[in-house]
Amino acid sequence: MSKLIVISGSSGVGKGTVIKSFLEKHPEFKLSVSCTTRAPREGEIDGINYFFLTKDEFETCIDNNEFIEWAEFSGNYYGTKKEFIAKSVQNGDNMILEIDTKGALNVKKLIPESELIFIAPPSLEELESRLRGRHTETEEAIQKRLASIKLEIDNSKYFNHIIINDTIEHAVSELEKIILHN
Ligand code: 5GP
Repeated sequence: MSKLIVISGSSGVGKGTVIKSFLEKHPEFKLSVSCTTRAPREGEIDGINYFFLTKDEFETCIDNNEFIEWAEFSGNYYGTKKEFIAKSVQNGDNMILEIDTKGALNVKKLIPESELIFIAPPSLEELESRLRGRHTETEEAIQKRLASIKLEIDNSKYFNHIIINDTIEHAVSELEKIILHN
C-alpha cells in the first residue's frame, strides 16, 4: 500500500532541504508538484518545482473542483490537483506533499490514513534570520510570511508528528524514523 506523507513547516524553516535530502536517500518516494500563482523564484522550473498558473487559470481549476485542497498563502494561491494524486496512487508511488498546515488538515480529512508531519524551527528568532538570509522576498512579503507563522505553529497541534529542525542531519533521521517505520 502506497504511503501519503504530508509535510508542513513555517517558511524558511528549511523543510525543503530536509525533504530534498530524504528524497535523495529514498528515491522510492516522490514529491508532489503543486500549482501556484506566485512568480517562479530563480532556478525554479514549471512542472518540476510547481505548475505556475495565472490567477484566472487557478480560479477556473477551483470552479471545476480540480483540487484535493487549495489555500491562499501570503497573497497567492497554492493547490494540489486531485488528478496528480490519483495518478500517483494508481502507480503505487509513495508520495510526499509539501503544503501549508491548512492544506494538510484538509488532506487528512479526505484521506485519514495520510501521515501529517510538522517541521518546526528551533526558535522564532532563528526562523526570522533564515527567512531574511534567503534574500528572495521583499520586506512586505517577509512580514506576511512572519504573520502566517503563528497560525502554522498553532495548527501543528493537530499533526501526527513534530520534528525540530535543529540540524538537517537530525531532522532527516527523525523523518526516516517516522516515515520508514510506520
Ligand atoms: P513557497 O512560496 O515558499 O514555495 O511556499 C509557500 C507555502 O505554500 C509553503 O508553506 C508551502 O508548503 C505551501 N504550499 C506549497 N504547495 C502547496 C499546495 O499545493 N497546497 C497548500 N495548501 N500549500 C502549499
